[in-house]
Amino acid sequence: MGARDVRVAVIGAGPSGIATAIALRRSGITDYVVLEKGDDVGGTWRENTYPGCGCDVPSHWYSYSFDPNPFWSRFYSRQPEIQRYFRASARRHDVYDDIRFGVAVTAARWDPAAQRWRLKTSDGEYTAQVLAAAPGPLHEPVVPSLPGTFEGTAFHSARWDHGHDLTGKRVAVIGTGASAIQFIPEIAPKVASLHVFQRTPSWVLSKLDFSIPWTAQYLMRTVPITGRAVRLGIYAVHEAIGVAFRHEALMRRVQTAARLQLFRQVRDARLRAKLSPSFTLGCKRIMVSNTYYPALTRSNVQVHPAAARLTANSVIGADGVAAAVDTIIYGTGFEITDPPVARYVFDGDGNSLASRWSTDPPQAYLGTAIAGFPNLFVFLGPNLAPGHASVLGTIENQAQYVADAVSAMARSGWASLQVRPEVHRRYNEAVAKALGPTVYNAGGCSSYYRDAEGHNVANWPWSVARLYRDLRFRAGDYQVTNADRDLVNA
Ligand SMILES: Cc1cc2nc3c(=O)[nH]c(=O)nc-3n(C[C@H](O)[C@H](O)[C@H](O)COP(=O)(O)OP(=O)(O)OC[C@H]3O[C@@H](n4cnc5c(N)ncnc54)[C@H](O)[C@@H]3O)c2cc1C
Repeated sequence: MGARDVRVAVIGAGPSGIATAIALRRSGITDYVVLEKGDDVGGTWRENTYPGCGCDVPSHWYSYSFDPNPFWSRFYSRQPEIQRYFRASARRHDVYDDIRFGVAVTAARWDPAAQRWRLKTSDGEYTAQVLAAAPGPLHEPVVPSLPGTFEGTAFHSARWDHGHDLTGKRVAVIGTGASAIQFIPEIAPKVASLHVFQRTPSWVLSKLDFSIPWTAQYLMRTVPITGRAVRLGIYAVHEAIGVAFRHEALMRRVQTAARLQLFRQVRDARLRAKLSPSFTLGCKRIMVSNTYYPALTRSNVQVHPAAARLTANSVIGADGVAAAVDTIIYGTGFEITDPPVARYVFDGDGNSLASRWSTDPPQAYLGTAIAGFPNLFVFLGPNLAPGHASVLGTIENQAQYVADAVSAMARSGWASLQVRPEVHRRYNEAVAKALGPTVYNAGGCSSYYRDAEGHNVANWPWSVARLYRDLRFRAGDYQVTNADRDLVNA
């Protein structure tokens, strides 16, 4: 079978892929396909089903602005409800049937002669004028390779083994990131013993979590402006906190709230010392939970330093103390600084994005376009995370960016566009400079925000308002060619 040709190919049907399909459709572009290796939409929310899984940004902001949901049952909703929302949204906007499920993209190469992307997939070859890569920033689970072999049951939180009953088991949790702090309080009461192996303690702020009464849901349904006001209020509070992220000294004051929560919830001074971070709040991802610290104070729970080695039936910590267990749960997060997509996207000379990013730090223009990779738009690329915001706003703006670029290409008859190298360079210099005084860089920690060389490849250094304002397609930022591969004026 020959390659199927489309104007736009989208990789992934998570929140980004769905938003892109909706934005394309709304712009009158129907010649696109969404390729999704899973069997449903939702991405993160399809894959992560661990107990207690939910968002840590309030739901009225962790949802599309164009598709508000007055019926969120909690201020911070749980995974099943979030997954239902994205499925319903894809159906409501008529894009669900444009998704080819069970199709994994294994390679994408820019063909300069044809001015098209050539995609190898588990369903044969596709060609596309534009490639929108939305395979997820937190998608590939990381399991540390510890010396030794464990013979019990082991799984990563993103691949939760629901067939394995934890009741009465002796369990080790390795890693204390955002997922672990959600599932530890859920499993602690049912296991016989829980050994938590922590490399670095994180700051944990309390979570204003409550169920939303049906009267409030009804009000937001019948008077939509009230729902919009709630969203705006949530945004305003997060934007205000964002000021502290940009000024490390100010953040140290905000940190008092987290220290107070630790003091209030953990009365044992030795345990409190183990759980006290040595860096400024916000330098690593901030955790929010009301139940994590109380879970760690239970008599069947013990906190250990980082796991160092495994035996057939135990995990041994960096202090040499062994914990006998029959189950290991890895709460060790995802591949972030070395995203898998970079290994299968190639420029016109056959160089992968990963090889480019191994010589230069991972960079993109507005986290979206990459010099040397024509007609490619990446979602949630380098330096697009403000650290204090819902990713959904960024996604929506990126989706519109792609739709506007594709519309401009169709309108003007452009075959390709590629961000101008000087625009790319100037932008990334400004980002690096602005990141200097932020808590991400000046907060005294090493984090997944920074690569092995210490370059911050994750954070957006300015306000969320500026992110939304800057993330606009401007043809002048691009070199444009016509079908004869001649440069034309944008
Ligand atoms: C447990 C958890 C909780 C989170 N909570 C929050 C939160 O509260 N607030 C927040 O702002 N962010 C949160 N995030 C971040 C979250 O990843 C994003 O909010 C959001 O899911 C990103 O959407 P996405 O569509 O870009 O990626 P994803 O949701 O990861 O979707 C990517 C999709 O691409 C598919 N895919 C990947 N590779 C291929 C391929 N080669 N071929 C075909 N398909 C492919 C995957 O199967 C997946 O369906 C959380 C993440 C996790 C893991």
